[in-house]
Amino acid sequence: MRRLPIYFLIDVSESMVGDPISEVQDGIANIIQELKTDPRALETVFISIIVFAGEAKTLVPLQDIISFYPPKFPVGSGTSLGKGLGHLMFELRKNLVKTTAEQKGDWKPIVFLFTDGVPTDDSSTAIREWQSNWKKTANLVAVSLGDGADAHILNQLTENIIHLKNTDHSAYKEFFKWVSDSIKTSSESVENNKSGFELANLASANLEEMDVTKDSRGENTHKVDDNFVVISALCQNTRKNYLMKYKKVIKQSNFAGIELGTKSYRLNGAYQVDDTYKELSGNEEIKLTVNTDELIGAPTCPCCGNQIAFAVCQCNQIHCIGDEEVTTCPGCGNRGKYGAGTGGFDVNRTRG
Ligand SMILES: [Zn+2]
Ligand SMILES: [Zn+2]
Repeated sequence: MRRLPIYFLIDVSESMVGDPISEVQDGIANIIQELKTDPRALETVFISIIVFAGEAKTLVPLQDIISFYPPKFPVGSGTSLGKGLGHLMFELRKNLVKTTAEQKGDWKPIVFLFTDGVPTDDSSTAIREWQSNWKKTANLVAVSLGDGADAHILNQLTENIIHLKNTDHSAYKEFFKWVSDSIKTSSESVENNKSGFELANLASANLEEMDVTKDSRGENTHKVDDNFVVISALCQNTRKNYLMKYKKVIKQSNFAGIELGTKSYRLNGAYQVDDTYKELSGNEEIKLTVNTDELIGAPTCPCCGNQIAFAVCQCNQIHCIGDEEVTTCPGCGNRGKYGAGTGGFDVNRTRG
């Protein structure tokens, strides 16, 4: 039996923390459940999951549906599309069974790339390698989760760019149903000796192709994802990492007859992350700051429940504080008493 390899290449950068990553996690689990009831898919479909943030890794190596156990998704800092693509091409080279005189090889692999933001690296080398070695050997479907993705860059990889406009729970559900339907129709097409790449109907799933002509950001590499501000912090009590996520809001105001848009960021949530966070984060030094005046809302610590999750040590480490007499910075070990600051100050942010 010839295999139909399906690769998921999934952006797990910090802006995905919270709802998006749990939607993706549930969505993948639903796809597997759906495919387990489909005799054709059970016979031909093999699935692998690769995640990327500042670094990339194989979350699930290529395997058949029966033995597939849906994974828990990690997050990391950065959106290195270059490293994600590089890792995907490494897996493709490693796994792809070629057709020879003796044997029929794999069907053309199908890659579903999910991303919600702009690459924070220079991905041009990896894109060129994709174009010259893989664009014809694999079918890639790029999916922009929300409005943040860079259509111009995705368009260099594929003509199949899908826009998940709404990112509420029901939209995600419909979208993942569409993905599993597309895998089913493709495995059906394999059976009939057709192309092995038949996407399900977009309109019936409320999806649309992304209009790449509307994206004016051009070819510049973006060093930071501006739709979200994510701040990385350490819990004083548990020493675990947590992320505070803020989403951009533009407030329209009228000043002396001139329409002005002021940008600020509203708290979206605070989330504990596990040790894979460090593994998936790029290790380049980043000097990005945001002024606390631009941030609306402050969370409690998601690790220990301390009232204030947003205290800053002189060493720049952000950490939680409670009602303890003396606070110990989990970054540098400095002990001291904290007073409430007045006015805005700059804190380090991640690349999202
Ligand atoms: Zn804490
Ligand atoms: Zn410190």
